[in-house]
Amino acid sequence: GAVIGILGGGQLGRMLSVAAARLGFKTAIFEPGGDCPASHVANFHLQAEYSDTEALKRFAESVDVITYEFENIPTEALDVLEALRPVRPGRKALKVSQDRLAEKSFIEGLGLSVAPFAAVDDAEDLAEAIEEIGCPAILKTRRFGYDGKGQARLKTSTDATAALSDMAGAPAILEGFVDFDYEVSVIGARGLDGAFAAFTPGENVHSDGILDTTTVPSRMSDATTAEAMEIAQKIMDRLDYVGVMGVELFVHSEGLIVNEIAPRVHNSGHWTQNGCAIDQFEQHIRAVAGWPIGDGRRHLNVTMINLIGDDMDRVPLLATDPNNALHLYGKAEVKPGRKMGHVNRITGSA
Ligand code: ATP
Ligand code: MG
Ligand code: MG
Repeated sequence: GAVIGILGGGQLGRMLSVAAARLGFKTAIFEPGGDCPASHVANFHLQAEYSDTEALKRFAESVDVITYEFENIPTEALDVLEALRPVRPGRKALKVSQDRLAEKSFIEGLGLSVAPFAAVDDAEDLAEAIEEIGCPAILKTRRFGYDGKGQARLKTSTDATAALSDMAGAPAILEGFVDFDYEVSVIGARGLDGAFAAFTPGENVHSDGILDTTTVPSRMSDATTAEAMEIAQKIMDRLDYVGVMGVELFVHSEGLIVNEIAPRVHNSGHWTQNGCAIDQFEQHIRAVAGWPIGDGRRHLNVTMINLIGDDMDRVPLLATDPNNALHLYGKAEVKPGRKMGHVNRITGSA
């Protein structure tokens, strides 16, 4: 059977591997770390650094198609891989999503709304950006941020110096603080043939910058729901995208505002494992393997609850409720802020 190569060995790579196995594929993981969640369930694990060109070549030659569970793949590594096998989703999506400035500019260029933003490389830029955008605002590193890391909130301009020192010299952007009503995300899928499907947008609650829960359906009206799905389709079409993408949106009284995009399966799409016949992981594998994608139909109402750090202590009790589907990542060490698993709690029929 065909082998799907996955860059990254975290929980997303693990759940992609499980979905691939269900469809009869084998999976190979490329991951510098040793004992990683994906390596426990994948068929092969090549443990090497992204700077190891020979290892990258061997990896590419051992698989039929390459995908990834995170967007920060070094450009040089992509060059090596892409020369040997198709990498899906492709280069455009990675280029745009690796850098918040490129991402915001791209989305704004599609005629979609984003928070006001400005590039910040030094104190002078920051002073100008604050003048232009005002406070409250959020300073974010342009690259490598996740789970709210690499962000500093500015209540007033007096917080500027501290916020800039939090960036430790990394290129950043200042974003105006959006006074949103609530947050949603669209998990979209686009096939090799250009077919598009979106799952029901979920309503997301964050705590300390980390996703806490996702609930489907959200509070959005049918019209706003349709609009959210169209936004995702527009973004994915323009990127010639193949695979699953997460599009995070702020629901504001004046309309939908795009927060960020993730060119991969997304934490806020985990509910699909128990709410849909074809979940986001299978949808992604289908797309990158060139299979027809599912239509995203939802059968159940679900609340996904992330199990972070000590939340693992709740597992024995959660396991007693027949409406709870547990998904644990097999991480050896519990750490504060570390995603250890999630629960999909079924709350009714769709
Ligand atoms: P992820 O883990 O989703 O990749 P991230 O580190 O990339 O997170 P963001 O999505 O940019 O971070 O921000 C995390 C959360 O912080 C958002 O979901 C939202 O709750 C809040 N936030 C971010 N930017 C803004 C903004 N401009 N205005 C208001 N709230 C914001
Ligand atoms: Mg992000
Ligand atoms: Mg986010």
